[in-house]
Amino acid sequence: MTSGILAGKIAFVTGAGSGIGRATCRLLARDGAKIIAADRNLQAAEETAKELNSAVALQLDVSSDESVKGAVARAVAQWQQAPHIIVNSAGITRDNYLLKMPTADFDDVFNVNLRGTFLVTQHFARAMIAEEQQRGGSIVNLSSIVARMNNVGQANYAATKAGVISFTEVASKEFGKFRIRVNCVLPGYIDTPMVAVVPDKIKEQVVQRCPLGRMGKPDEIAEVIAFLASEKASYVNGAAIEVTGGLK
Ligand code: NAP
Repeated sequence: MTSGILAGKIAFVTGAGSGIGRATCRLLARDGAKIIAADRNLQAAEETAKELNSAVALQLDVSSDESVKGAVARAVAQWQQAPHIIVNSAGITRDNYLLKMPTADFDDVFNVNLRGTFLVTQHFARAMIAEEQQRGGSIVNLSSIVARMNNVGQANYAATKAGVISFTEVASKEFGKFRIRVNCVLPGYIDTPMVAVVPDKIKEQVVQRCPLGRMGKPDEIAEVIAFLASEKASYVNGAAIEVTGGLK
């Protein structure tokens, strides 16, 4: 018998093979949830799952309708019910100046960050709502402080992350009657493989501008996600929570 505030809950996490998604799987499992770790990189998702007690891995491309539908079916089959918690952490960057940005890079970022969040939310919410007694749930989306800072070179990424905030607000209004809360987190600069490709000079500038004088750790985002996933956040809905060390 598992204990913890999320005992008896099932969590489906995208982007679970790396960074914030992997840290989120660990902390939700620490709090007692069963985990479905989904990533387009199956091997990475398996590495996340194998460290945890009750966890399975599956391959998923969030930008593909068919792939997401298949993931819902497999997730429900795994524990004979829909997940209670969905975390949309899969995301990519393809930075470039606007005048040089290939259309394909705009489309790729849009398809993963915004279309992917839409597809996963829509298909999993349908399964959650179809459960008996509409037992509710929590959906947490990953936006970014870049949605508010609007960095040069990130027209594609910033637009999708701003879109995630609006999407989250609409979903929170539509799903409230099903007792499904929908919130998003806006991380600052977090030490993950996504940020590893950012030039050192830019990272130094960011650290200097951050009042806490350092980058964040994946666990520092995952703790906020775990809070939003739990009943401790029972009246938090439609929120966009900055977790940036004070970086604006
Ligand atoms: P990460 O370490 O790069 O992890 C993202 C994971 O998502 C990777 O395993 C990636 O696989 C996977 N992924 C990419 N495209 C996918 C798809 N189509 N379907 C399924 N999985 C896919 O990134 P992170 O730093 O943990 O970021 C997690 C989320 O937080 C992202 O949405 C990101 O935009 C957001 N965020 C991060 C930061 C930060 O500073 N790190 C700041 C603000 C917001 P591949 O490795 O194969 O691409």
